[in-house]
Amino acid sequence: MTSDPTITGVRSAELPTHYPRTVGRNARLGSHGDGGTSAIAIIDTDSGQSGWGLIEQAVSATMIDDVVGRPLSELIDPNHGVRADRHCWLDAPLHDLLGVVLDLPVYAILGGRGSTAVEVYDGAIYFDDLDPESAPRGTEAVLANCRADRKLGYRDFKIKIGRGNRWRDRDAGDRRDVEITRLVRDAYPDTRILVDANDGYDLTGFQRYLDAVADVGLYWVEEPFADDADDLAQLRDHLNEISPQTLIAEGETDPDLDELLPIAAAGHIDVLLMDVMSFGISRWRRTMAELIKHGVVGSPHAWGRPLKTVYAAHLAAGLGNIPVVEGVPGSTERVDLGSHVFADGILTLSDRPGFGLSLLAG
Ligand SMILES: [Mg+2]
Repeated sequence: MTSDPTITGVRSAELPTHYPRTVGRNARLGSHGDGGTSAIAIIDTDSGQSGWGLIEQAVSATMIDDVVGRPLSELIDPNHGVRADRHCWLDAPLHDLLGVVLDLPVYAILGGRGSTAVEVYDGAIYFDDLDPESAPRGTEAVLANCRADRKLGYRDFKIKIGRGNRWRDRDAGDRRDVEITRLVRDAYPDTRILVDANDGYDLTGFQRYLDAVADVGLYWVEEPFADDADDLAQLRDHLNEISPQTLIAEGETDPDLDELLPIAAAGHIDVLLMDVMSFGISRWRRTMAELIKHGVVGSPHAWGRPLKTVYAAHLAAGLGNIPVVEGVPGSTERVDLGSHVFADGILTLSDRPGFGLSLLAG
């Protein structure tokens, strides 16, 4: 690095975060709330430059002491990311700071192998038909969410399915999944539809669901059931018969790449979903070549925090091999999206340094 500032401090903050509406249940979990907070760390340096980003761990004095006094180059390598696992809790803030110091957007540091116009789907279509419990709103609630998110600029929808796993009688829940999938397709004939079961089916049940929506032309099916090589092979066979274009997306929950990559190499997983935060930017940087070698694309899981969508988009524009990114509709207090533009399902990244996001004074 031409300039190599020394870390002088790390501060943390909690930024109130707002989804456009309360987001309901999925196949495994209860209400996802109205946004909660986004935990961030801000790294200060002796040059006056700073970087900031989301963190997921509680911060201790020991963790901060371990980075203060070190030059930036000791913590992060521009070509590979954060050097030591114990510093990976600062993965996003360190990448932002590196961008500021190098005067480059993160996607450029990552190689600029993808387009800066990143396709983003709407990841916020949950089981709102089942709420409120006392007087469920029914299928119209889901269609209303699609309409609202279209107005925010989204074009493609990921629909949560698996109502029969916890919240409804198996048959009734499965029927509702089919009904909603078909209703969304009828309302939006040209849009991409993804479905995410959060492992809420078994193979046989999921094959039944697919048979009932075969003509919908699903873009991808995500986590239909707990990872199992034989079941995924059978799922691929089944899809090849009824909807060969439909992709299989896996690897969000507790990803074990040693297990998943051979399945991908066999053609039974098409998209890997490791989370942009918990798996991390640095590990994505070190793993993408492996994905390409095995003929599988990536799409870093982003649900939960709107800022994760921006990070995932930087990975798409930087590493390539990420055809579409999960959108988390909402806003984060004190964060100015700067010159990033989201319209017509495309997030166009600005060329400002770091992640291109401004943290306003709190
Ligand atoms: Mg998922």
